[in-house]
Amino acid sequence: METVAFWILLLAFLGAFAAQVARRVQLIAAAPATISIENPAARASRFIVDVLLQARTIRERPLAGLMHALVFWGFVAFGLYTTTEFLRGLGIVDLTHTGWFRAYRLLLTPFAIGVLAGILFLLVRRTILRPVGLGTKVSVESVVIALFIATLMITFLLTFRLDEASPAGRVNWWVHAVVILVFMALIPASKHLHLVLSPVTVFLKSPELGNLPNLDFEKEQVGLETVKDLGSKSVLDAFTCVECGRCQVNCPAWGAGKELNPKAIILQTQEALLAGQRERKLGEVYSEKVLWQCTTCGACENQCPVGIEHLPILIGSRRGLVSNGDAPDYLGAMYNNLERRSNIWGLGYDQRTKFIQSAGLEIFDAAKHDVLVWLGCAGSFDADFQKSLRSLFSILRTKDVKFGVLAKERCNGDPAKRTGNEYMYQELANGNIDDLKAAAPKTILTSCPHCVKTIGDDYRKFGYQVDIVHSSVYVEQLLRSAAAASGSRDVVTYHDPCYLGRYGGKVDEPRALLERFGADIKEPQRNRDNPYCCGAGGGLLFADKEEEPGSRISDVRFKQLQATGANTVVTACPFCSIMLKGAQASAGADTQFVDLMTFVDGKLTKA
Ligand code: SF4
Ligand code: SF4
Repeated sequence: METVAFWILLLAFLGAFAAQVARRVQLIAAAPATISIENPAARASRFIVDVLLQARTIRERPLAGLMHALVFWGFVAFGLYTTTEFLRGLGIVDLTHTGWFRAYRLLLTPFAIGVLAGILFLLVRRTILRPVGLGTKVSVESVVIALFIATLMITFLLTFRLDEASPAGRVNWWVHAVVILVFMALIPASKHLHLVLSPVTVFLKSPELGNLPNLDFEKEQVGLETVKDLGSKSVLDAFTCVECGRCQVNCPAWGAGKELNPKAIILQTQEALLAGQRERKLGEVYSEKVLWQCTTCGACENQCPVGIEHLPILIGSRRGLVSNGDAPDYLGAMYNNLERRSNIWGLGYDQRTKFIQSAGLEIFDAAKHDVLVWLGCAGSFDADFQKSLRSLFSILRTKDVKFGVLAKERCNGDPAKRTGNEYMYQELANGNIDDLKAAAPKTILTSCPHCVKTIGDDYRKFGYQVDIVHSSVYVEQLLRSAAAASGSRDVVTYHDPCYLGRYGGKVDEPRALLERFGADIKEPQRNRDNPYCCGAGGGLLFADKEEEPGSRISDVRFKQLQATGANTVVTACPFCSIMLKGAQASAGADTQFVDLMTFVDGKLTKA
């Protein structure tokens, strides 16, 4: 009798589960294929670290992350227990009286206590502590699920006290089984679907942060215009969001009071998909204004514990807008500069030639030079940044490194790519790739983190592979045994550029250089591989900041740097330097800005 009842309940709840899952599977299958398993080794290693060890979850929020990890590990540990009990309930096979099952059950006890402690902590956090990233409303669904999980653990622990054949023992068994069935039916329509999907999305997340595959113009790809254009990985992501708000609280745009909220982007995607709004324009789903507020800093993707990729949606939607001529005016002016003069400021290349001559630079010759120094737009035209490059050249000459530059460079294309003007990006990139192939350098050295990312990662998608290294990394290796001039030590703070610290993971080398050459570093909040953006990326260097809601991102960051108490800010990116100096000027502060290379060069003992 009990067996029949259990079969009926199982089939009913499985049916409810399957119907809801089918709807989501259908939507994923109907989307343009963007799922890739290239580089399986990197994916597998992230799976182990982020799913099995729960490292990303624990790293940012140690206590809440650990409690979540206890619940996750408990779920995994209980998998075989639930299967065995269900096989018994269905009358298929009863293994519950075997020796191994009795030992396994005992081993589960600490897991049950861990899950219970973890879920009660998370329940209190969600209902009483309520951190801002979780939203203003208490989620009833989360409370119900938490109580279900607690019930499962309590009923499990009670099996050690109750005779399983007694009426109380039977009631306990049924409560445990029915809660699992109801839980299963609730999962697909709730954020708890992440229990099933997140191991998949973490594995499928691109090993490259901010991965933006090239558009194929021969296939008439123009970017994302409507909901039906969203790729299969983005659709899968939309159903995996656990609504934890990590992306939100780490987003510099949201932090500065703008409308952009990366969590909302994912939830709006989910809503539009489930509402069947296939033809709805993405500029309407998210609002066009919001799409232009992203600096492409990568914090959202990097912090997301379930492998969700926001940038393919944000930049993909920008691509769709640009292809329809809907880019903001300030970008129109920048695109004009890129089109006419191949650089973001629209300046004549005679200025770059003058700099090359005045700095005594040679034109790169692979037979003669060790490295090619890539100047970038800032190095070619920005007088302030050229001072920093002169320091780099001086360090290279001191250590007898033979280097040269290209006779002509175009912008690497990053501002075009990350604002969605893929056509212009590909024109610039292909022109540079032809010149670089002709010059054939083994190593490219640059002081611009955006050039490192674009030439190193994005050009690889055209089949061009080269070793490109940021000056902080190259010089740190070069000067490992060099002596610094003696003297008093300087108290400085160091601002990690997003494209060096977060995208490139280069956080130790700049610090090693600073410490070796006489600096005591006062770390700002948001540092190393999770810095707060300066506000320049994604074309926002050119945006009219006066028209934006909230504060300027650069002002927020400048205040964080000021709060360290250090009067010197060291930067390692030309665009961070421009933005932060602008913030300093508006604040009327007397903070000094020094580029890393200038700092090191000033302290280097030259024989
Ligand atoms: S990339 Fe940065 S600015 Fe853009 S949504 Fe993500 S966190 Fe916000
Ligand atoms: S996208 Fe990721 S980080 Fe953002 S709320 Fe969803 S699960 Fe959390």
